[in-house]
Amino acid sequence: MTVTRRTASIAVVVPFYNEAPGAAVFYERLHEAMDRLGRPYTLVFVDDGSRDGTLAILNAIADRDPHVTVLSLARNWGHQAALTAGVDYVDGTVGAVVTIDGDLQHPPQTIAEMIGEYERGADVVYAVRKEHQGAGFLKRHTSNAFNRLMAWSTHVDSVSGAADFRLISRDVVDALKEMREVHRYLRGMVPWLGFRSAVVYYEQAPRHAGTPAYTWKRSMRLAHHGLFSFSTLPLNLITWVGFFFATIAAAYLAYVAYVAVNGRTVAGWSSVIGVLLIVSAFQFLAMSILAQYLGMVFEQGKRRPLYVLKQARIAPRARASTRGLSTVVGIDRAADTSAPRR
Ligand code: UDP
Ligand code: MG
Repeated sequence: MTVTRRTASIAVVVPFYNEAPGAAVFYERLHEAMDRLGRPYTLVFVDDGSRDGTLAILNAIADRDPHVTVLSLARNWGHQAALTAGVDYVDGTVGAVVTIDGDLQHPPQTIAEMIGEYERGADVVYAVRKEHQGAGFLKRHTSNAFNRLMAWSTHVDSVSGAADFRLISRDVVDALKEMREVHRYLRGMVPWLGFRSAVVYYEQAPRHAGTPAYTWKRSMRLAHHGLFSFSTLPLNLITWVGFFFATIAAAYLAYVAYVAVNGRTVAGWSSVIGVLLIVSAFQFLAMSILAQYLGMVFEQGKRRPLYVLKQARIAPRARASTRGLSTVVGIDRAADTSAPRR
């Protein structure tokens, strides 16, 4: 029997960082939703260096459920790296990969609708929250403004309101695996690839338990990666500011020439110092922007792995292997249930 989009297996990749209070409830809802689909599936749980016993909970789930693979990163590498590890792990046997947060803000029931769109031919299905009720006023508005800025400056049409809850087909997975950039912003990288996309909507639930791992600092870092690794807008800004100052300088120069010809003395120090300050301030600004890019070239130049695993516990149901993973260090062979039993 040939595998079609109606029968292909689905892998669900879930990043977990300090989600011990809610992980078990999330798993119950997820596997209920997946069982209802009546098609083969695997669950890939990525523990992103949690320090609150999340890994033990995930391993206990894997003991009971043969669908579950647990990958554990050697430390906290961040949401984007954890998602990357999960997607890298998935091999050619699956038809599509769904990424979903492990804090129950993304309802697992929505996966059925996403798969519906996939069956109708979409290669990317974005799950978009109707309103982000969970998020505060400030976070909501800054994230909307940021999405608009990104769309305008990068010419990549990211779907507004789409976070990292999405389905990508086998072809998109393969293409994404080719993108090994360090500064990852999957919300931009997936639309950048192209492919046929569709959107489904969901109501965002408040966080089930635990605390959001995305602090302001982390959100700012993600926004920074999105903007600077996707756009040359900051570089162009230098040019615009440069033109602006050049225009003012030209006008001022004309004025200086005028007063010189008319025999009056030029105004004193203050204006000179003023110009000096403006220009040197701009130079520093320009240098700092250049430094941003230089820093990223530096980091990319190191070609470090995007994450490092300390454990890969492969689900018996998955025929996948650790072949696709970026770096696998010290795989716990005892826990690697895919290894042939002797
Ligand atoms: N997460 C992760 N590594 C991190 C931060 C978060 O794997 O360093 C996971 C987290 O457990 C959750 C998802 O990524 O499943 C989204 O995180 P969070 O709920 O904090 O983000 P928000 O919903 O505020 O965007
Ligand atoms: Mg969340």
